[in-house]
Amino acid sequence: MMDLFQMPISNISGVSNARLTYFQKLGIFSVGDMLYFFPKSYENRMNQKCVANLSDEETATVTVRILDVSSRRVRQNLTLISAMAEDETGTLKITFFNQKYLINQLKVGQEITVFGKVSRRIGYFEMTNPAIQKAVARGDFSENYIPKYPLTKGLTQGVMQKVAHGCLLVAKEHLQETLSFDIRKKYHLCELLYALENIHFPTGEEELASAKKRLVFEELFYLMLGLGKLKLKQKKAAGPKLVNYKIAEEFAKQLPFPLTDAQKRVTREICYDFKQGYQMNRLVQGDVGSGKTMVAAMAMLICAQSGYQAVLMAPTEILARQHFEGLKPYFDAFGVSVELLVSSMKKKEKTAVQNGLHTGEISLVIGTHALIYDTVQFQKLGLVITDEQHRFGVKARAELTKKGENPHCLVMTATPIPRTLALIIYGDLDVSVIDELPKGRIPVVTRIASETQRELVYSFVSKELAKKNQAFVVCPLIEESEALDAENAIRVQEELQTRYLKEYRIGLLHGKMKADEKDAVMNQFASGEYDVLVSTTVVEVGVNVPNATVMVIENAERFGLASLHQLRGRVGRGQKKSYCFLNLADVKAKKRLEIMEKTTDGFQISEFDLKHRGPGEFFGTRQHGLPSMRLSNLTYSMETVRLAKEAAETVLSEDCDLVLPKNKKIRTSVEKMFSENEFVSQL
Ligand code: ADP
Ligand code: MG
Repeated sequence: MMDLFQMPISNISGVSNARLTYFQKLGIFSVGDMLYFFPKSYENRMNQKCVANLSDEETATVTVRILDVSSRRVRQNLTLISAMAEDETGTLKITFFNQKYLINQLKVGQEITVFGKVSRRIGYFEMTNPAIQKAVARGDFSENYIPKYPLTKGLTQGVMQKVAHGCLLVAKEHLQETLSFDIRKKYHLCELLYALENIHFPTGEEELASAKKRLVFEELFYLMLGLGKLKLKQKKAAGPKLVNYKIAEEFAKQLPFPLTDAQKRVTREICYDFKQGYQMNRLVQGDVGSGKTMVAAMAMLICAQSGYQAVLMAPTEILARQHFEGLKPYFDAFGVSVELLVSSMKKKEKTAVQNGLHTGEISLVIGTHALIYDTVQFQKLGLVITDEQHRFGVKARAELTKKGENPHCLVMTATPIPRTLALIIYGDLDVSVIDELPKGRIPVVTRIASETQRELVYSFVSKELAKKNQAFVVCPLIEESEALDAENAIRVQEELQTRYLKEYRIGLLHGKMKADEKDAVMNQFASGEYDVLVSTTVVEVGVNVPNATVMVIENAERFGLASLHQLRGRVGRGQKKSYCFLNLADVKAKKRLEIMEKTTDGFQISEFDLKHRGPGEFFGTRQHGLPSMRLSNLTYSMETVRLAKEAAETVLSEDCDLVLPKNKKIRTSVEKMFSENEFVSQL
């Protein structure tokens, strides 16, 4: 049997050499990739109506007879074709912009079926640029639901549909079922081929639902199997016994503020793990600003006091420096040596730190990825802490742990995961939650602003800047391309510089810049050389710029709630009252985003998300350090997650290494899923 993931997409007609790169840009290299590249939505052409029953703003299909066609050149580049048409019940005006070729296709007296959004006018309805039925050849697949794929420049829906269709024909011949009959029967799952056909070209709502159910289940099943295997491995290891936790109390006394109860509780949980003699694997979840760093610091001190070394790894150099500079005075006070290790340091400095770590002269080290190089060796590593874990993936952490003998692991994340979900995903991995912010924090005032209020928003920003405060302006990632993101951010910067915030210094940060360029701009902003920082979502990571009191998020409707919450956490870090504006280009999103105005509690927001959008929203954010999920854009219930976990546990209880012949296929699938994400070394 053929592996469809090995068959190049260029075998399919419609994928010319010229188009190949566009497909690759979407991550589609093989027929298998295309089969798993799912539509983001469908046009439902089942909603057949007669004209009289149409309502304003709805999307519907009607079949009408053409009464009259006219064409008019409005401007140099704009031709307008309008057709008056009717059925027995009413009149429909159809307008097309710049589709001159249609003039030869629309004939008076002809019946056509059009699909599109309806506007009510006085005495008639209108559709602008509707789709005309049978525009694309889809052969023997359904035409009731027309798939709409995520696109990139150079590809059209027509091409995608044709290629998807071609791939399904190949699948008919060569696709292998991946789930056993038993599992499909037990969980009422349809066959793979049927599922793929119906996810691309559904024959109806129910068929689409059953396709999604099967595909989502399968993906979660592999995820749970992979995680389950990881957990089974982790459980056994013995770890260093660290018992000198009195020092944490001493440390707390040195702080200019009392620890919150949540910080104390989590520290106790860590101390408890430390003395068990087993390797700790603990996730500390705490909202932005909840004070995770102090908890990490206490764990590091306990470790040093017990004669072991500890390492704290941050995702960016600027964060590492911030941690280092913030903590060094405290560590110094206890006579515990701490050093910084980041790539930009001089070779000589780095070598000195490496030597110190190797001999054990240095107890604690704070740094970035530079810590995982082979040249970094520890004398006696007892604790590995990673900050904002999702930025690393599991592999970087694994590299670090290998530098010691089963050192304890502490992972700190600001992504609040709803408890129900955390329990399922992390299972026996221990989760601590810092569910309390330090007293006296002033919640960030959040306001949703429409397009027409943009000017007001920026005049507010300029008042804040006049008070010597700073502002973040965040532009969304544009699905289609990184280049567009950059362009978009550049455009916003120009607009602000020439229009709204003329007299201020505006820095720019986007994904096309190199890591050190980004760090440099970020540093300049942090040190006040810029008043405003326009950026794509790269500021998400926990940078501390207490002087920033305003954040404007452009096109906020493009973000998930979790991301918005993370972003917003960049302001309100100082003593001053802070503001966050969610600028909407699409007012329809207002309802979904309203919760942002109501609460600043990340857990509440994530619970809300889980309830309203399902766990797929969470799996889609990539903030969890889990493998990427193809189905993250589909909605499904927690129940599906639970069932997939149950199925995985059943399989693992019988065959924990997936070595039985009957589990061969699922083993391959699990390995594939996890290998794409650096997990493989762990499995
Ligand atoms: P995060 O959890 O987002 O990493 P940080 O550890 O960076 O948060 O802490 C945010 C700020 O709060 C820091 O300036 C820190 O010094 C301060 N902080 C931490 N704990 C407390 C506390 N118990 N009371 C008051 N301020 C605190
Ligand atoms: Mg932090």
